Formats: sequence, structure tokens, C-alpha cells
Amino acid sequence: MIPSGHKIGILGGGQLGTFFTIAAKRLGYHVTVWDPHPEAPAHAWADTRIDTGFDDTQGRRNFIKACEAASYEWENIPVELVEAIEAEIPVRPDGRVLALLQNRIKEKSFLSEHNFPIVPYHPIQQIRQLQSAAETLGFPLICKTATAGYDGHGQWILNQPEEIESFTPLLKACPEGWIVEKYVPLHKELAIVAVRDNKGDVYCYPVTENRHEEGILRQSKVPAEIEASLLNKVSSLSVDILTTLEGTGVFCIEFFLLNDGTLLINEIAPRPHNSGHYTLDVCPSSQFEMQVRVVCDLPLVPPRLLSQAAMINIMGAEIRALEVETHLNALLEIEGTKIYHYRKNEIINRRKMGHITLTNSDSERLSGVRAILDRAAGKRDVKRPL
Ligand code: ADP
Ligand code: MG
Repeated sequence: MIPSGHKIGILGGGQLGTFFTIAAKRLGYHVTVWDPHPEAPAHAWADTRIDTGFDDTQGRRNFIKACEAASYEWENIPVELVEAIEAEIPVRPDGRVLALLQNRIKEKSFLSEHNFPIVPYHPIQQIRQLQSAAETLGFPLICKTATAGYDGHGQWILNQPEEIESFTPLLKACPEGWIVEKYVPLHKELAIVAVRDNKGDVYCYPVTENRHEEGILRQSKVPAEIEASLLNKVSSLSVDILTTLEGTGVFCIEFFLLNDGTLLINEIAPRPHNSGHYTLDVCPSSQFEMQVRVVCDLPLVPPRLLSQAAMINIMGAEIRALEVETHLNALLEIEGTKIYHYRKNEIINRRKMGHITLTNSDSERLSGVRAILDRAAGKRDVKRPL
């Protein structure tokens, strides 16, 4: 065990790295944040900061010297870096698991080899493979880059055979290849944060119900409003996946629920996740504290939900809702809002800039929050389901 007062580190200093750093410091750890961007939000919370590129060997030596164990905040950290670090200190999840989960082709073949239910897919490197996959799967299709995709980046929907040709230049743009899968009509999207400790025990948080807009998570509600038997199925599949994977760390597994009740696994993230942000406010130990506990071999306890909640991401210009007095007043006057501003250096369209957790949420207060975000971003009279 690595007790309080010792030194741990995190690779990546966005909002997930920030919440890890805060959780670790509250528990009394000295935290080193390594993020190549000097203005990455977590640097402001770090005890020690490294802001050279992930290929900097001196940075690597400094990181190893400053830490007794480490984790990372997203799956696109170079595997070689994690492998070099774990030759000296534990990194959780380890490089083998990272290599598997940062590449959709490897991830999907792991899941299908072990007979976990997934959307029918084909790996593709060449256009003729896409043509024959289209014949087998039928339209519409969704193509995803094997690596480096997130928040809907690196994805294209193909609706008809004529669109295949125009895809040729894109195919070449990702040398690691692509996967193509059937674009399935979704009844609901579900996700679960699950943690596996060093002894192999798995602990599951409650299942969330997620809504995406333009491929980005927009809103998450917990607990998911689905039958108890389905909730149990999500948890038991997640335990099976992490047990088969033999990964140690915090994971988030995304699921698709189809209209006929079929449950399919979409993807696995080897880290805390946006859809687990509610754990900061309505669980005794957040997903980030769990990440610290796993990294330091502290005991884990089964997660418990203190209240239902909804989490709404603050995207791009909506962050003005926190910076303009009238909007901020209106937000804070809604009972149960918990506001998080990520202090990112620049407003970028579709970028996650913060989030709001509404504890004990109801649809009226939820639509109130969304309306204030819309107004702050200059959008008017948007009608949407909650
Ligand atoms: P990312 O790594 O960007 O999160 P995902 O594979 O999770 O990539 O896709 C992002 C979102 O796009 C999903 O949450 C879902 O809303 C939609 N999506 C992805 N694949 C499919 C599919 N096969 N059928 C229907 N919707 C999909
Ligand atoms: Mg996803």
C-alpha cells in the first residue's frame, strides 16, 4: 500500500486529470501532473508539473523520480511511455490493457473472441474491404478510426453505396486502419463505471443513462430508468469483461440498448469517464477517489448512490453561463445545482468546458439548466426531449 503523504502521478491534465489530482491531494498525496500543454487545467492543482512532450526522455525520468505509482486520464497516451514508466513503478491500468483498449480493432476483437455481445463490425484497411463489409452489414454504416477517436471525432456515417468512393481519402488518413459497423437504432445508451482492484475484485457503480448529441455526451442520468433485470445484466457483463480483461483500475463501459431489449457493448475506456461525474456529488467515494485507491492499493468499498442525479455537460460558448452574472444567478437559484468550471484556456465549439450536476433532479429543473446554457451560448427556443 502507498499511504497518504507519498507521491503519485497522472498522465494527462484535462478535467479528468484535474479531478484525480484533487481527490489525491485531499487524501494527502503529493501529485505530479504530466501534460504537454502548459495551460492544461490540472497543472494549476499539481504539486509538481511536467509540461514537455510525452516523448521527452528527461520528462520521463523526472516523472518516474517524482512518483511511486501512476495512472492516466485518457486512452490516447502513448503505450511506449506507459511501458517505460511501468518498468520502474506500477501504472494502472497497465500498458497491455491500454494497448488493447486504445485501438478499436483490438478492443472489438477481444470482445468478440470472448463472445461478448457487440454491434456487427469489420476491420478495414482498403476500400474493397469497406465495399464487401457494406454488402454483408447493409446501410446505414458508421466508420470509426481504429485509434485516436473521442467525442465523435474520427467517425463518419455512410448512408448509401454511392458514399463509399468518397471515403477513399479518409481511409488513407488513418494508417492504423478503421472499423466499420452497422449504425443501429438506439433505444437508450447506458454506461457504467466499474473498478477492478489488484486482487481481482470488481466493484460497480450504478448504471447511467446517457444522451449524446453529435457524438458527444450531453447528459447523463443516474440511476438509468430501465428494468432491474437489465440493470443487473449491465453490471454482470461489466464484471465479466473486467475479469476477462484482467485489468486493474477504473474503467467505464458504454452500452447500447436496442428497441427489442438487446444489450450490446459499445466501448470500454480504461479510465474514469464523463458519465461518472455524478459520483463526485452523490457517492461517498467518487470515481476519481477510486482511481487513487486503486493506484495506491487502498481498500475499495462497494459504491453507493446517495441520491439520484443528472449531469449536464457545458459545451463551448455555454461556459458563459458561469461568467455572466444574470446566467450564473439563475443557475445558482435552481435548487441542487453543483457547478464545475474546468478553466480551459480557450472556448472551442463542441469542447467540454465544464459540467453541472443536478442532485435530486426533476425534468423542470433540468430543462431550466439547459435553457440557461442555451441563452448563454446565444441559442434560442431550442426544443428537445429531456
Ligand atoms: P467515442 O470514442 O467518440 O465516444 P463511440 O463509438 O462511443 O466513440 O461513438 C460516439 C457516439 O456515437 C455513441 O455514443 C453513439 O451515440 C453514436 N454511435 C456510435 N456507434 C454507433 C452505432 N454503431 N450505431 C448507432 N450509434 C452509434
Ligand atoms: Mg464513446
